[in-house]
Amino acid sequence: MSTVIDVGGIKVSALNDGEVHLPPMYYPGLDFGAHPELLAVDGTYHIPVGCFLIEAAGRTVLVDAGLGPSSIPFPGDIAAAAGLTDPPESIAAGGLLPGALAAAGVAPADITTVFLTHLHADHIGWVAPHGVLFFPNAVVICSAVEWQTPPVAPAPGELEGRRGLAAAEAAGVLRVIDAATVELAPGVSAHHSPGHTPGHYVVRVSSRGQTAYLLGDVVHHPLQLNDKGISFLSETDPEHALRTRAELLTALQERNAAVGMTHFPGLDFQRITTANGREWTSARASSRE
Ligand SMILES: [Zn+2]
Repeated sequence: MSTVIDVGGIKVSALNDGEVHLPPMYYPGLDFGAHPELLAVDGTYHIPVGCFLIEAAGRTVLVDAGLGPSSIPFPGDIAAAAGLTDPPESIAAGGLLPGALAAAGVAPADITTVFLTHLHADHIGWVAPHGVLFFPNAVVICSAVEWQTPPVAPAPGELEGRRGLAAAEAAGVLRVIDAATVELAPGVSAHHSPGHTPGHYVVRVSSRGQTAYLLGDVVHHPLQLNDKGISFLSETDPEHALRTRAELLTALQERNAAVGMTHFPGLDFQRITTANGREWTSARASSRE
């Protein structure tokens, strides 16, 4: 799966590393009874594990590094809590990113920067699977507070992913940031957007009057565009996440920016239009490719 937009001469591609299978309880406030079409026959909501490739002048930036070459078995306690009698084999499965990169004509050695929006397991897996750097020429950039604060109750896959970051640190290629805004490449910048996690950043791509935002997990479900009551189970601070989401969505609505989100169905880029109320509209219809 690969969708591509051109942002004033900067190519931005959405690449998929795999799939996550989440029971309804992961989306507090979302009435799945009113949206039965969202659930697969196994009773879970299936979402992609997106990464974004930015090909700018002289720099090739990968935003988020997927789940990695692993599959996390569906935990029995979560199946029981969700009342799933026949849960899917895995709660999350990765492994597709290398093929997606190859299809985009990019080798791991071409990546100059790996930027991590936050350090949940589905965003860090390819940094260094089994301790071996996957992108041999890249610096790896993430939030200082996220890296320096180990998780109290690590989710499945999280510690393995953090071992990859430790390998990057040992190799001298890990850079931690704490500023509100950090330039990653000409026209590409990271902006602190806490709530989902304390050190979450979004990425802005801006060139020749065009703008795209890569929101990471600030928006986790399409219905959050209009429903402020929907949150996500693993958000560190749901109220702060709601404020950040509301501010960003309002700003994006006013700027006509293209928007990429890690877990958006189909990983298609979107814009917010307001002709018939607030709606997501594919950004590709009006973009050069
Ligand atoms: Zn995520």
